[in-house]
Amino acid sequence: KFIADELQATAALEVVGIRKDFESFSALRDVHLRVKPGEMLCFLGPSGCGKTTLLRIIAGLETQTSGRILQNGRDVSWLPPDKRDYGIVFQSYALFPNLTIADNVGYGLVNGKAKRADIKARVDELLTLVGLPTSGQKYPSQLSGGQQQRVALARALATRPGLLLLDEPLSALDALERIRLRGEIRRLQKQVGITTIMVTHDQEEALSMADRIVVMNHGVIEQVGTPMDIYERPATPFVADFVGKVNVLRGHALGGNLFRVGDMELQCDACDSGFEPGDPVNLYLRPEDRIAENLGPETPNRLSALVTKVEFLGGLCIAEVTADALHGQTLGLHFSLNQLHDLDIREGNRIDIALRSNRIRAFCERTA
Ligand code: ATP
Repeated sequence: KFIADELQATAALEVVGIRKDFESFSALRDVHLRVKPGEMLCFLGPSGCGKTTLLRIIAGLETQTSGRILQNGRDVSWLPPDKRDYGIVFQSYALFPNLTIADNVGYGLVNGKAKRADIKARVDELLTLVGLPTSGQKYPSQLSGGQQQRVALARALATRPGLLLLDEPLSALDALERIRLRGEIRRLQKQVGITTIMVTHDQEEALSMADRIVVMNHGVIEQVGTPMDIYERPATPFVADFVGKVNVLRGHALGGNLFRVGDMELQCDACDSGFEPGDPVNLYLRPEDRIAENLGPETPNRLSALVTKVEFLGGLCIAEVTADALHGQTLGLHFSLNQLHDLDIREGNRIDIALRSNRIRAFCERTA
């Protein structure tokens, strides 16, 4: 354990107290981050939260107001982009239109001192890696968007950089191609073992691709964690709201793990008990965190709810429910199509459910 911790101590990239001011506006405020060797990290956040600015500072394409960037312990804070060790892929594929695919991929190698035969071998290897082994002699305009982005990826990897930076690489693609490339980038990143940072505003992309997600808001990091951590244990109301769907119930603390919402006393096993009785709280519950079958007298947080709307989405449906006991507050809950039939969940019907006591999270109303 001790040795593992020591190894982890050498971060592939360290962001130390980065601040970025655009005149009087602070786009980043005292950002600290350690990226582990070989991991895929996603910067996730709404438009304007500073994720692109942070990536550009790491790349040396933007200058920080203060703070430092260390790559494998080396201070690169003030080095120009070409003196840093990374490959980058942008949203727009940014290939040279008048060069063949092979020449695009080998571009960074030609500028170095590599031999022609070695360059050809490396280009072939990379084109095979991204699934385009026979496209070397084509031109970018002959390829689809997804294929061009694969070429951009191959080009970014050509010089065997220590770090791969991806700036919204999937945003320009159609939905199907986006999902396909999502899986491919992930596979390729693990296969090559390259430390990678990807910027995205798409939570599904971050949840499905990242080893760890960095959730940003208004120039600060709200939480860093595995996708499951972020989804199941959001550290702040912003994270709970931004990643995944969530219901918010207003209530107040009763002490310990008990909270009152309307006429109901809700038991929240996962909530930290640092609330004083009477504190106003918002209770957060994911749509899937309800029990609708095999309810017993001992099941906590039971209620009889009125179905006010059913949204049919295919295999998974959303039922909007309300209850007098909740003083009219509504919940959007997920049910499988089979449950919809089995439990006769229809607009105007009543259903018995329980809110999962180990899933509800409480946040102080002040910070919500
Ligand atoms: P998006 O997904 O929209 O690109 P983002 O999270 O990547 O959002 P940034 O592009 O990093 O956000 O921008 C962060 C903030 O800094 C924004 O409010 C933006 O308007 C501001 N900003 C970025 N570049 C500049 C600049 N050159 N001059 C002034 N303000 C800037």
